[in-house]
Amino acid sequence: MSSTATLPLLLKQLRLASMARHWEALLSQARDKGWNGAEYLAVLCEQELAERCSRRIARHAKESRLPVGKSLATFDFDQIPQLSHERIQALAATGDWAAQARNLLLFGPSGVGKTHLAAAIGHALVEQGVRVRYFATTALVQQLQLAREQLHLEDALHKLDKYRVLILDDFGYVKKSDQETQVLFELIAHRYETGSLIVTSNQPFGQWDRIFPDQMMTVAAVDRLIHHADIIEIDSDSYRRKEALRQGSEEPMTTTPAPTTFTPPGSSPATR
Ligand code: ADP
Ligand code: MG
Repeated sequence: MSSTATLPLLLKQLRLASMARHWEALLSQARDKGWNGAEYLAVLCEQELAERCSRRIARHAKESRLPVGKSLATFDFDQIPQLSHERIQALAATGDWAAQARNLLLFGPSGVGKTHLAAAIGHALVEQGVRVRYFATTALVQQLQLAREQLHLEDALHKLDKYRVLILDDFGYVKKSDQETQVLFELIAHRYETGSLIVTSNQPFGQWDRIFPDQMMTVAAVDRLIHHADIIEIDSDSYRRKEALRQGSEEPMTTTPAPTTFTPPGSSPATR
């Protein structure tokens, strides 16, 4: 029988960090409780797995770049009575829809909580072990354009495959005058039926021809996005503005566009 003196080294070589940390303390616990060898080993293994899992989740939370503090716990559903709390909870409660590569489209004017909701669902999914990555859409478009210039677009798209959910925030801010917005179409086509997108936009579909180079590409992009999708339209006053008024502060004099309505081809948003 080999000496236990080498045990810390062996555990380190095997990269069993949690076991290396806890084996000794747990051994005395095992003696106190009269565990047999297998029971002791089982507890050690469980701890190792649990620590790995929480380290992985912490890593995924960091890489997600999700806005901090935008969770369901901090979202006030009373502010948007027409928004179904249950529906949002259901999307946050399980990553099944993401596993099925479904999309989630959040529409509504500025300041109604689209980014907050997208991030909250993202955070909830990360906690369940789903890999999520948040992007301001304009930043992602720039990144993909650069990759295309360097002839690495395919690689760049494949690199995003590791994320089950990509959040494309403020989709409507992209303008085709920014050139080569077809990279956005290529992303949508690439993710179609293989990975999920959460898209937020204050532009209804009818105005998406401002984003893509031509009508055909616009229709093709919308088609792919809505084929397997939940569509939520928030038609409410800006939370930001209400908050500013509540606090009695000077309201920033930006004009919020009137609530936009949209009709995706062949469907009514309320029935989706
Ligand atoms: P949008 O993306 O629709 O422009 P945001 O999600 O950025 O709006 O919301 C604007 C600000 O108001 C953010 O700080 C957000 O956290 C907050 N906010 C919006 N709606 C709510 C809500 N219902 N409950 C709590 N905070 C909210
Ligand atoms: Mg936003």
